[in-house]
Amino acid sequence: MEGRIGPNAILRTLEALREQEGEPTAQRVFRAACLARYLDNPPAGMVPEGEVAALAGAVERELEPEIADAIARESGRRTAEYLLAHRIPALFQRLLRALPVAVSGRLLVRAIRGHAWTFVGSGRLSLNWRGGIRAVIEDCPLCGDSEARIPRCLMFAATFEHLCRRLIDPEAKLRDLVCAAAGGKDCAFEIACGRAARDGKGVRV
Ligand SMILES: [Zn+2]
Repeated sequence: MEGRIGPNAILRTLEALREQEGEPTAQRVFRAACLARYLDNPPAGMVPEGEVAALAGAVERELEPEIADAIARESGRRTAEYLLAHRIPALFQRLLRALPVAVSGRLLVRAIRGHAWTFVGSGRLSLNWRGGIRAVIEDCPLCGDSEARIPRCLMFAATFEHLCRRLIDPEAKLRDLVCAAAGGKDCAFEIACGRAARDGKGVRV
């Protein structure tokens, strides 16, 4: 059975397209993804993961690579802001900000694990903390084995990066993103936090 994903991926991408590229471009991309119905009636609940994959593909194919990259990052940033405003309890956020990076990072990883399916649908997300977050998505529903000019799962990675910046370390950095749609075996990335973000070294795995 096809997996389902929270509607943020569609809602936040629509916002990013409208604000950064304008309404005509938003309409062109949503039409290319066969999702034009969402332009006037945005989804209110979970959506089939195939719709999110179609939209990620349309962003990547219809836009210049640097614009597609910027839209994916902005969609991820907006998704993280939504989660902070509506899904992650304020008390837990204050706790994470008050604790040392190594402790808050582990707590955040544990909290995200419990909700992984709302991000990756039928894909399998594994998360570990090793001086930063190491994420691997097997069978990523956005990426499959297609050929893409930019990683189609960049929006996921950007969501994690922004969550880490707001909760763990303001200088957290996304690094070493590989994508099954752009030549990788699985989709994987690291969010370097704390000393790992400052000394330029990768996350220890
Ligand atoms: Zn990917």
